[in-house]
Formats: sequence, C-alpha cells, structure tokens
Amino acid sequence: MEEFCAPRRLLLGPGPSMVHPRVLQAMATSLVGHLDPAFLTVMNDVQVRLRQLFATVNRFTIAVSGTGSAGMEAAVVNVVEPGDAVIVGVNGVFGTRLAAVVERCGGKAIRIEVPWGQIIEPQMIEERLRRSGPVKAVALVHAETSTGAWQPIEPISAMCRTHDALLIVDAVTSLGGLPVEVDQWGIDVCYSATQKCLSCPPGLAPLTLNERALSVITSRRVPCHSWYFDVSLIADYWTEHNRAYHHTAPISMLYGLREALRIIAEEGLPARFARHHLNSRALMAGLMALGLDPLPPADPRLPTLLCVTVPPSIDEGAVRSQLLERFGIEIGGGLGHLKGKVWRIGLMGESSTEANVLTLLNALEEIGIQNGWVSVPGMALQAAAYIYSVGR
Ligand SMILES: *Cc1c(COP(=O)(O)O)cnc(C)c1O
Repeated sequence: MEEFCAPRRLLLGPGPSMVHPRVLQAMATSLVGHLDPAFLTVMNDVQVRLRQLFATVNRFTIAVSGTGSAGMEAAVVNVVEPGDAVIVGVNGVFGTRLAAVVERCGGKAIRIEVPWGQIIEPQMIEERLRRSGPVKAVALVHAETSTGAWQPIEPISAMCRTHDALLIVDAVTSLGGLPVEVDQWGIDVCYSATQKCLSCPPGLAPLTLNERALSVITSRRVPCHSWYFDVSLIADYWTEHNRAYHHTAPISMLYGLREALRIIAEEGLPARFARHHLNSRALMAGLMALGLDPLPPADPRLPTLLCVTVPPSIDEGAVRSQLLERFGIEIGGGLGHLKGKVWRIGLMGESSTEANVLTLLNALEEIGIQNGWVSVPGMALQAAAYIYSVGR
C-alpha cells in the first residue's frame, strides 16, 4: 500500500469544514509530553481563548478529548443521575441523540417534540417545567445541524433558574459562527466541537461549566458513571496548579485548536459572524433562484448550515455524487426521515467564503442545466451576486 493522498475537496457539508493551512501546520509540530511545561502554556492559552469564544468567565472551560458527541456525553453524564428528569428539545437528529444520552445515564427524558425544521417555543418549555415535578436540567440544541433550525436560548435561562433546573446547550454548529453568550444568556453547561465553525479537524469538544453546574455536580448522590468524562477527575489535569495525569491529552489536536482559536481572534468575532451571515444570505438567494425552498421556511435560519428541500424531480443523490466526482465539492444529504429529501450545506468557518458560495452555485447550475432542471442559466449566480453587491 502507498501512502494515502487525499483528493482535493471543497468541504461544504455539515462538517468537517475546511481547515486553515496554519492549523494543519500546527498539528504537524513535534510532540512534547502532555505534562511538559511548554505544553501547559498551550493548554492555558486554549482555555483563555475558549472563554473568550464562549463569552464566559467560567473557570471550568476545557477541551474534552473526543468529538462533539463526547462533549454531549460529558455534559449529560456529569449532571444526570439515575432517576433525574431532563426536558429535551427534540426537533432533529441531535435533540434525539441528547434524549438518548440522558436515558443511557439512567435519566428520564421528557421530550418536547416539534416537527423537524421548527424551533422549540420557549413557552412550551415553561409549560413543561410547570407541569413536571422536579427537573434536573433542560437540554437544547442551539443549532440543529440536521434541519438548519436556530433555537433561541436567552429566553429559556430565567425559567430554568425559577424551576431550579440547569440549562444545557449544544453549541456544536454555532460556536465560532454565530453568537454564543454563555454568561449573558445564563447557560450553565455548553459544549461544542472543533470540526464545524472552528475549522479544525474533528477530535476535541470545547466544554464550559459555570459554578451553578459545578455545585450540582459536586453534590451528586452517586459518582459519575463515566470515568473518562468525570469532570471532577478531568479538572485535576486542566487546573493550573495541579496538572495531575488523568488521560494523555491529544497533544497535536490541542496544537491545532490553539492555532484555530488564534485565527478566530485575528478576524474578530463581530467580523466573523457578519461574514457567516452575508455568505449564507447569498447562498440561500442562489439556491432559491434554482427553485429550492429553504427548510425552515422562515427565519430564524442558521447562517452556518443551510437546509433546502429538494423536489422529487431532482435525483438528489446523483447530484451530490456529481458535485463530488466532477467538482470535488462535498455537501450533505438529509438525516433520519429527511434522507433523500434535503441538501444540507455547511458554510462554517473557513468554508464560509464568497468564492465557495459562487463555486457551488455554478456547479449546481451546470449540473441542473445538463439534467434539465435549470432552464435559464445564470439566475443563481446573479441572485448571489446581487446580495454581495448590496450587502457590503
Ligand atoms: C456534529 C454535531 C454533533 C456531534 O458531533 P460529532 O463531532 O459528530 O460527534 C452534536 N451536535 C450537533 C448539533 C452537531 O451538529
């Protein structure tokens, strides 16, 4: 076997997103020990930068070893004890997964289900909090990557405090692409992942816990069921004065995350959010000009993940194959019951550029012309170009 040589790809799917060459270079840096003082400065820097990104002063802000789902498990398994009731917003694949994780931890998931593509209205959560007995936590997905729905978070925290429940938020497809204000919004537990809007390879899950969450965790009746994700053990490694061995940190991943966070800081969050907003508007205008309808039919729609319904007249799988084979472009298909019915296009981090938007629209238009579902060439690019010309 020869060495693996990756084909050139433009990653516009639901993750991973494009990675800046500086991040790849950082990951190729020589290893030092995971307790080496030089490495501890890398960890400290990652913590400081993650706090800025989460807009929090939370002392416990770390990168969990593992992908976004590890962040989800860590968030839930530390908070939920057997028998605890947890209200979970279920409007897509990741809300469904959250509820499953709650149940694996022995908790009772109280699912608030709404059709995929819709958000969970805050009053539905309030009503459920009032009607249920004691609730340990409310768990919500801020950016539902399976549908493009953008869940409001800020109105939920006050009701969680009134009912003495923690607020757990999945910010996997939002952190670094749109505002996530952990302290201001009153989020108690928040996790994300590196391969979406942070534009780093998959492998780490940023996680932040406030004092309210930590006091709930320290007063557990039974120890956390997961040894690997037990934050009381992990804290010994991430706390500045301790640095005791728990597990070997994925050193190269942390090099990469640090560089990705430096790139984010150089751009600045307001500029970064504005970029994601503008490119998503341009792409959606182009997709609509191709006759594709947005899945959340009205705002709020995610600027980081665009979901459009594909009419039965278009062979959606064949189009995705052609995009990949002929143009080297990856976009995502539907998950769950949206399989075969939607495209999911990620414009996250480094992937969110005007050039990428125009490249994708051009490729889609060409495929559409050849397959007879685009009759007037140029409409999609025109629609996007219009947004760019007025949007600046
Ligand atoms: C991708 C994603 C996850 C899971 O992350 P993995 O890195 O695939 O484990 C969780 N929640 C949301 C909203 C996601 O988009």
